[in-house]
Amino acid sequence: MRKLNCLVIKPVNQIDLSQYKDAIIKTLHDLAIIEAAIIKDNHEYFFAGDQYLQHISFLGCSPYLNFDAQKELTLNDLSNTIADLNYIQIDSSANTIRFKNTDFGVKAICPKCKTKISEWRNLISNWEKNSKRDTICPECQQELEITDIDWKKTAGFYSTAILFHGIQAELALPTDNFLAQLESVTKTKWHYFYG
Ligand SMILES: [Zn+2]
Repeated sequence: MRKLNCLVIKPVNQIDLSQYKDAIIKTLHDLAIIEAAIIKDNHEYFFAGDQYLQHISFLGCSPYLNFDAQKELTLNDLSNTIADLNYIQIDSSANTIRFKNTDFGVKAICPKCKTKISEWRNLISNWEKNSKRDTICPECQQELEITDIDWKKTAGFYSTAILFHGIQAELALPTDNFLAQLESVTKTKWHYFYG
């Protein structure tokens, strides 16, 4: 399946919210952000509900969304069908941290020296190999935790997130109301980045 751009909405703190997964799905259903799901390999993917655009603000041109649930579609169809790219996934697993980044213009700012880390891909590939969060800034040589890098919303880590597939970086963002609803259900603050 080819990589799709997405808006990633996640808790601000790197905490395990997998126990809230069903509550998050219920909230998205209640807000009509999502509707019918397709299930593949035990993963659920949801179509956009008819209030999707009330909770995700598009800057500039609106997307072409297919609000008609088409349960017979397979994931393979999804990857080949432009009209169905705006699907939603709740990606959550205990004790697993994932990383996503935009295709272009990733900004990795060191939390210690505030310098742009140009070699961020090396840090990520080391972390993927050894899964150690401790690393060293190649710019200032200070120790830091890789999850403390400020990506300026061009990338990020998460263990629980709502992925809005088919959204290009900086073209859409969640409304304050939507983030507040997620906070009220999970008792923790949420924010977003692009991946
Ligand atoms: Zn540094």
